[in-house]
Amino acid sequence: MNRIVGYNKSVNDVDFTIKKGETVGLVGESGSGKTTLGRCIVRLYDSTAGSIKFNVNGKMTELTNLSTKEMKNIRKNFQMLFQDVYSSLDTRMKISKIVTEPLDIHNVGTKKDRIERAKELMIKVGLSENDLEKYPHQFSGGQRQRIGITRALSINPEFIICDEPVSALDVSVQAQILNLLVDLKNEFNLSYLFIAHDLSVVKYISDRIIVMYLGKILEIASSSDIYESPRHPYTEALLAAISKNKAGSKRDILLKGNIPDPSNPPSGCVLHPRCSYARDICKNISPELMPVKGKTNAFAACHLTNELNLKYFN
Ligand code: SF4
Repeated sequence: MNRIVGYNKSVNDVDFTIKKGETVGLVGESGSGKTTLGRCIVRLYDSTAGSIKFNVNGKMTELTNLSTKEMKNIRKNFQMLFQDVYSSLDTRMKISKIVTEPLDIHNVGTKKDRIERAKELMIKVGLSENDLEKYPHQFSGGQRQRIGITRALSINPEFIICDEPVSALDVSVQAQILNLLVDLKNEFNLSYLFIAHDLSVVKYISDRIIVMYLGKILEIASSSDIYESPRHPYTEALLAAISKNKAGSKRDILLKGNIPDPSNPPSGCVLHPRCSYARDICKNISPELMPVKGKTNAFAACHLTNELNLKYFN
């Protein structure tokens, strides 16, 4: 994956790169445009402008120009995992059919090869060969997500968009699925874009994190920079929201009100109506995503990035 630019009413001026073997967390409240962005990248949604490039066998390929047939060929390189895995699985199909379907679509191997691949992957994700004969309703939520992962991996993709794949699961099951995704990433040298609505889930899985709000990137930095020294008030507020520290000062940092309508964003800095640090300039001038002073590969879109002494919550 090289360069991704999306533009529509809910995602605007978004530009970033995901390297081979990297996990990038994409975080923001509901309505921030994360899912739209993820779906634009794999062209489940068509963007109205911009560029999405994918490195196929060493050649950068522009995805937005491809025909449906060309797109089908490239699509086997990337897969998606969904939050609502049950509705993404055809409940009338046996698991064997569900997990081998991508191989059928792309005409990979013989029928026997496909079943062998399915058996191997089922064991790798913590299920059994016998589970291939069952149906989706016979599994728990965590097991269904393992089936979704098996299906995604069957075609041997390089890049997986994980769209809140653990949000609907119990915390203990979340940890198991996250650990599984990390192990699989290391084993198969996968790249992930991991979408989540808060910063707790992506903490242990991400190399870098993108913080998004109303279709704009507000901060990009390494995972350690985001958690230990956030440079954008929105990131600080997201960290305060997941903090176990009940200090009184935390109340001042939590965001005021709700996320505005993305089709009618506020003037100037999109966060200004909710930001406790907002000044007059914030109402009129939209801050650019700029390098953060004293940091490497860290960017923030805030007029006051280099002045504010943002708090860190653990
Ligand atoms: Fe807050 Fe102003 Fe920074 Fe926007 S630019 S995040 S309103 S301080």
